[in-house]
Amino acid sequence: MRVAVLGSGSRGNAIVLEADGFAVLVDVGFGIRALQRRARAAAVDLRTVRAVLLTHEHSDHARGVSPLAQQLSCPIYASPGTLAALAPRLVDLRTRELPAHGTAEIGPFTVSTCPTSHDAVEPLALTVTETCSGERVGIAYDLGRPTPGVRRLLRDCSCLIIEANHDDSLLRTGPYPPVVRERIAGPGGHLSNRAAVELVEGLCHQRLHTVVLAHLSDHCNRIDLARRAVGNGLRRRGFRGRLLVAGQETPLASFQVAAEQYSFDAFG
Ligand SMILES: [Zn+2]
Ligand SMILES: [Zn+2]
Repeated sequence: MRVAVLGSGSRGNAIVLEADGFAVLVDVGFGIRALQRRARAAAVDLRTVRAVLLTHEHSDHARGVSPLAQQLSCPIYASPGTLAALAPRLVDLRTRELPAHGTAEIGPFTVSTCPTSHDAVEPLALTVTETCSGERVGIAYDLGRPTPGVRRLLRDCSCLIIEANHDDSLLRTGPYPPVVRERIAGPGGHLSNRAAVELVEGLCHQRLHTVVLAHLSDHCNRIDLARRAVGNGLRRRGFRGRLLVAGQETPLASFQVAAEQYSFDAFG
């Protein structure tokens, strides 16, 4: 399975997972031209996208869904609440409900879901497993708090794409008014670096070989802070895989999810 994070942050999110020429796009937080530009930069052919999955309806995750699904004539999978929230924009498009707790077979993938604590109608964390190999990618961002359900869902992944939204002290001293700060740090908001460390430490196991930090705040986080905090936590757990950080502006180079290829230490 190949994974490409086309961008991640409060101004747009999109992740492509591809196996056997069949790709799913998780979130469409960019307009169609920006998405195409990003896909080209990551050497991803958007024509291979056969299904769109949405974690929730916020515009940084769903901004471009209608024109893209129309152009590709592919179905849109999301929770019933997310589909209802976006209904006026999904007229004449094919939609499929993802259960808030459950699984769906989509091409070569098995998708499993669970609800997250976030201030959207019915937001989901999900795993995408290549059914034939068992390689599993967990995607969990826009997490106010990591619930027991999220921890259970993500416990057996070979690759984790996890939110590390803000550094606590940068959030305290950052440009946001108190009400916004409280929302970001609250149970309906976003995961801090500190909370991401705690979550990832609990999810570390021998077959976990790639961790991607995602949805970093432009104003209240820095790549080096997030990387150092989570890297230290992973080291404590004996992790010897690679730690990547997805940015807002530039797509992350696409990578293969296959355990045997990544038995090196790539913290440097
Ligand atoms: Zn978001
Ligand atoms: Zn959100």
